[in-house]
Amino acid sequence: MHEYSIVQSMLDLCEKHAKGKQVDKVVVKIGKMSGIEPHFLKESFNVFKEETTCQDATMEMHLIDITIVCKDCGKEDIVDSFNFFCPHCKGGNTEVLTGQEMHIDYIELKEEK
Ligand SMILES: [Zn+2]
Repeated sequence: MHEYSIVQSMLDLCEKHAKGKQVDKVVVKIGKMSGIEPHFLKESFNVFKEETTCQDATMEMHLIDITIVCKDCGKEDIVDSFNFFCPHCKGGNTEVLTGQEMHIDYIELKEEK
């Protein structure tokens, strides 16, 4: 499944970032158009984090709305689902600005004891 490879590369990134410390929290941003199922992502994370620097870490997810900009009237809008027509001029000459991304926002490390 798609989500598994994403989690693997996320864990790699955490590993590099943590430099031997334990990770406390991983905050990710997921665009609603990214094709990633947040539920599966979290499940995969909980499976794969065992015996990594993230083993005690929790994952926090923030969903990013889909926004489009209309090249005809220049207006920006948040759209639901996959309706990419401009709500103002009804034109189809739009471009997706956000909602396709998926990345780690930040990583919190555990305090040294
Ligand atoms: Zn428009």
